[in-house]
Amino acid sequence: MLENRIVDSFGRPLEYLRLSVTDRCNLRCFYCMPDERMKFLPKKELLSYEELGFVINELVGLGIKKLRITGGEPFVRRNMIGFLKGIVESHPELELGITSNGVLLGKHIKELKAIGIQKINLSLDSFDPSRFLRITARDDFQKVYGCLLDLIESGFQVKINCVVMKGVNDHEIPDFAEFARTFPVSIRFIEEMPFNGHGKQRGFLSYGQIKSILEEKYGTLDLQQAEISSSSFDFAPSGFEGSIGIIPAYTRSFCGSCNRIRISATGQMKTCLYGKNVLDLRGLIRSGKREEIKHMIINKYKVKEENGLQAEKGSELVSMSMIGG
Ligand code: SAM
Ligand code: SF4
Repeated sequence: MLENRIVDSFGRPLEYLRLSVTDRCNLRCFYCMPDERMKFLPKKELLSYEELGFVINELVGLGIKKLRITGGEPFVRRNMIGFLKGIVESHPELELGITSNGVLLGKHIKELKAIGIQKINLSLDSFDPSRFLRITARDDFQKVYGCLLDLIESGFQVKINCVVMKGVNDHEIPDFAEFARTFPVSIRFIEEMPFNGHGKQRGFLSYGQIKSILEEKYGTLDLQQAEISSSSFDFAPSGFEGSIGIIPAYTRSFCGSCNRIRISATGQMKTCLYGKNVLDLRGLIRSGKREEIKHMIINKYKVKEENGLQAEKGSELVSMSMIGG
């Protein structure tokens, strides 16, 4: 009988797809992209909207319940709203979210609301415009902050992704945490990973160090995963509208419950963010092997690495914007 779900070699069901729709971006966060000389791919190398739709259909057929659209920056791709609308119409049952830097998203808030998308992860690493400029190399703080406030005001479920780095923005940890006192958002402090094209972390701050900084303010913390497969360890101080969490993206203590499939904008399916176990979906689609794809995806996960530390051995640490964060 044909299998109709993806279960990895350790018995874990895969139900969450993170799909990158472009490698391009309008910011240049130094922890993500090597520098201004970043070379982007010609459009023909990216999966077309038709091909992306096909991949989503196949994976929904294999039991995917959650989909996150990411990049690069999703909203730099033309007609992103039309693409999102198409997903919701074809798969209304999917839990659909978007990760964005918020520079262009602000002008699409009404359309997103009309389509019915609720979950937005917005990346913001500083509340200080000049520090924002130093991190992203673009003077766009006001746009992103304005977008954040509009999203909250419009009732979206907002998570703020903040990559914290020693000597860069670690002193802003309490300000970010306090933002969740007033606003119903989930703040997630993310450990810096070496996916920036040169492999060196600028100011790595570990889960434990971030937790200690928070404990100075809020006392001893009992951090819990919101869901079994969540990468974030959270707490909600009493009286807060929102919550605060830490994502040990580099120390990787959540790998045991991983349920993610990652597909890059060029259609490379990665069984682990850190690994090199890849299936070339674009190659299969463009060589007329569409009907073999489901079977090949299932088989690829039969050789999944147990965790990110295992997977990392011998891997290339490219830019996060290429993989899709
Ligand atoms: N451009 C969108 C954005 O920034 O939200 C989506 C793509 S971005 C690659 C997705 C997430 O990956 C962002 O929250 C970003 O902060 C995070 N990220 C990128 N490079 C990272 C790194 N080296 N370490 C940790 N997180 C990283
Ligand atoms: Fe662009 Fe997002 Fe990477 Fe920043 S983190 S450079 S916004 S893809």
